[in-house]
Amino acid sequence: MNRNENLERIKTENFDVCVIGAGASGAGVALDAELRGLKVALIDKGDFSCETSSKSTKLIHGGVRYLEQAFKNLDFGQLKQVKHGLAERKYLLSNGSHLSRPLGIITPVFSFIEGLYYTIGLKMYGWFASKDQLPAARWLSKKEMILGSPDITQKAHSAVMYYDGQLDDARFALALSQTAHQQGAATANYLELIDFKKDSSNKIEAATLKNTLNGETFEVKSKIFVNCTGPFADRLRIKANPTEEARIKPSKGVHIVIPKKYFSGDKALLIPKTDDGRLVFVIPFQSEIMIGTTDTKYENLNEEPLLNNSEIDYLLETAERYLKAIPAKNEIKSGFGGIRPLISAKKKNPNDTKTLLRDHEVEIDEESGLVSLLGGKWTTYRLMAQDTCDAFCKILNVNNVCKTKDFKLIGSQSLIQIKRPENFPLECFEHLISSYGDQTPTILSLIEQRPELISKIHVDYPFIKAEVIYTCQFEMAQKLRDFFARRTRWEILDWNACLESIETVANLMAQELSWSEERKTIEGNTYEKILVNFKTVASN
Ligand SMILES: Cc1cc2nc3c(=O)[nH]c(=O)nc-3n(C[C@H](O)[C@H](O)[C@H](O)COP(=O)(O)OP(=O)(O)OC[C@H]3O[C@@H](n4cnc5c(N)ncnc54)[C@H](O)[C@@H]3O)c2cc1C
Repeated sequence: MNRNENLERIKTENFDVCVIGAGASGAGVALDAELRGLKVALIDKGDFSCETSSKSTKLIHGGVRYLEQAFKNLDFGQLKQVKHGLAERKYLLSNGSHLSRPLGIITPVFSFIEGLYYTIGLKMYGWFASKDQLPAARWLSKKEMILGSPDITQKAHSAVMYYDGQLDDARFALALSQTAHQQGAATANYLELIDFKKDSSNKIEAATLKNTLNGETFEVKSKIFVNCTGPFADRLRIKANPTEEARIKPSKGVHIVIPKKYFSGDKALLIPKTDDGRLVFVIPFQSEIMIGTTDTKYENLNEEPLLNNSEIDYLLETAERYLKAIPAKNEIKSGFGGIRPLISAKKKNPNDTKTLLRDHEVEIDEESGLVSLLGGKWTTYRLMAQDTCDAFCKILNVNNVCKTKDFKLIGSQSLIQIKRPENFPLECFEHLISSYGDQTPTILSLIEQRPELISKIHVDYPFIKAEVIYTCQFEMAQKLRDFFARRTRWEILDWNACLESIETVANLMAQELSWSEERKTIEGNTYEKILVNFKTVASN
């Protein structure tokens, strides 16, 4: 994806659909619309998936909690959500297979009755997902539980294991944007929609965009504008039609990241009950373990939600009852916060309860023509995109059907042909395959041209120098944080290792993106400040 070429297209071409926001929702809509033969532009004010879509728990799931509530409250709306999630799970696992995997999840129980309750519940969860091949839920004896997960507390009576999926959220969203681009969409990061332009009948006909890397502003023309800005959706809805009421109720969720030794193995742990009546997961992600999440009201959308000290206490105390040992606070390697874009029903139509029964909603503002995709979750991004495209295809009078159910994303073609070169460390090769999939040979060929790029950036992690060059050339990485937080997932694995690697990555990016010495220093200092601030907020 060449940013300058894409910017030129966005400035000069007339589009059918301009998608604002390149998280899971926007990237999903862009791909679906492009596959229906529409001419698409996809923009984001920051990097691809720089907001909620890179900060999720990374589970592909129907939601075991929703199922429990659906039965307890006889709530068929919630049951439908579970079924949607489970139906979509199958597509995420197959269409982006290098970035997703089935995940065994162990739920420790403390009595026979509890074991029976969860076995019945989780078996039912599996029945609702009859269409995929994941193993059925199973009640494990204490011995089996310890064999599978030796770090679970010995106080547990036994455990129930079921399966869901896990994805690398940031790279999955990037693969969606890249695939949309490969199919013809003009895509660009660091391009913010700052205003709409309307025609004489008050319908949006164009928008003013700002290149946030150099301050330049210009116009994009499109028949339809689709607001996929997640937690920020109200801003554009109200900009397009100031009489609209706010619908988003932002909620903050955080995760902490701890060393793998506290929960070894490849399974996750479900803590089914917390003091505030929620679920918490302990999940292996790449080389470390994530624990999350929380759920608190969040109001200041101008500020990145950061992990704070009391949230660390809460998550460690919760995990302590289920693990043999927990880390000391100074062993915490990293953490991150995200904002859920939860939606509320319209006050104008309080009796319209259908909006409450669904996880997402496609809203069309009759006056301005703005289409907004609101709410939802990662797991159902494809269905959300399908519903959105169906809605605006009606306006455009286009009958082309959705093709995303079995459309494979960039990177997910067969990997059998890719051979590890001699002397190439296995851990680095495995990391390349699981991040870049069938694009790995392009990185290997960069190393053939410049053998020095084979070296690791940091002794403790498998990331290599060639990835910096590759992500700048092919994945539109523009800033240091793009590389550390989203092209690789290093920032959520280990803040200190990132701090130690800034100079090496900055030198490589500076060469590739022709940064001056001054720019390189500014970029390095800016990212260092971000990481130091994370550490400060977490420890105060
Ligand atoms: C803590 C947490 C855990 C979660 N865990 C899970 C999970 O395990 N499984 C699951 O299925 N779901 C999960 N979710 C939900 C899921 O992550 C979100 O529903 C999803 O990522 C939202 O995607 P989005 O594209 O709508 O929003 P976002 O990812 O926030 O994308 C919106 C984009 O719009 C851009 N933008 C905003 N304003 C403008 C503008 N003016 N111009 C241009 N661009 C703009 C932003 O930069 C941003 O990139 C979780 C959410 C949270 C917060």
